[in-house]
Amino acid sequence: MLFDTHVHLNAEQYNEDIEEVIERARAAGVETMVVVGFDRPTIQKALELIEKYEFLYASVGWHPVDAIDMEEEDIAWLEELAAHPKVVALGEMGLDYHWDKSPKDVQKEVFRKQIQLAKKVKLPIIIHNREATQDIVEILKEEGAEEVGGIMHCFSGSVETARECVAMNFYISLGGPVTFKNAKKPKEVAVDIPLDNLLIETDCPYLAPHPYRGKRNEPAYVKLVAEQIAELKGMDYEEVARITTENAHKLFSIER
Ligand SMILES: [Zn+2]
Ligand SMILES: [Zn+2]
Repeated sequence: MLFDTHVHLNAEQYNEDIEEVIERARAAGVETMVVVGFDRPTIQKALELIEKYEFLYASVGWHPVDAIDMEEEDIAWLEELAAHPKVVALGEMGLDYHWDKSPKDVQKEVFRKQIQLAKKVKLPIIIHNREATQDIVEILKEEGAEEVGGIMHCFSGSVETARECVAMNFYISLGGPVTFKNAKKPKEVAVDIPLDNLLIETDCPYLAPHPYRGKRNEPAYVKLVAEQIAELKGMDYEEVARITTENAHKLFSIER
């Protein structure tokens, strides 16, 4: 049984065939998924999906790329949504220095506000990091994010950074890149970090694992991520599936 901790089934890429995509996920053994909303329209769509499917949960937050669009009333809206029984985390939030739509200081401010909100509503946080590792770790420390913990989503950093995040009460979530032949760091992290601190995800429709690299990703492929971790760790696939699923239930406080 698998738990995909990061899906964007709320993306327009699934407008035509979401039923089939969900069916294939269930057939592949994906028991539960967290739909991540990161701006007004995607949060709205995530809320619709969790009403419709009992095995879908949502995380709501503001993406760093769009930090510049976030208004004061949006933080109030996130706080309201945090009370929904199927909203299990806040995010994705963080820093993204690859795109320059939102200035760094605006990204940092929006990130800090969301961590403060998470502490207030007592929900874990999902962190998006692109080319901003040092600043992210610094802000998590300064804001005392350890209190709520959460997920370093689609982690692509070093073993050292992964250990530092685990020490701060964060899970390391591996996605499609761990299956890429040239992805040295995610493979090292998969070997080094204990299974008790790992989660799996697709981040679909992005970052499809090998052999679907470059194609539209979907939750059924999270199985390939679990298989790759099992191979790298020299463990049974069933054990990787079971423990990463247990970890996700624990973090999101979802009863089985
Ligand atoms: Zn992300
Ligand atoms: Zn995402």
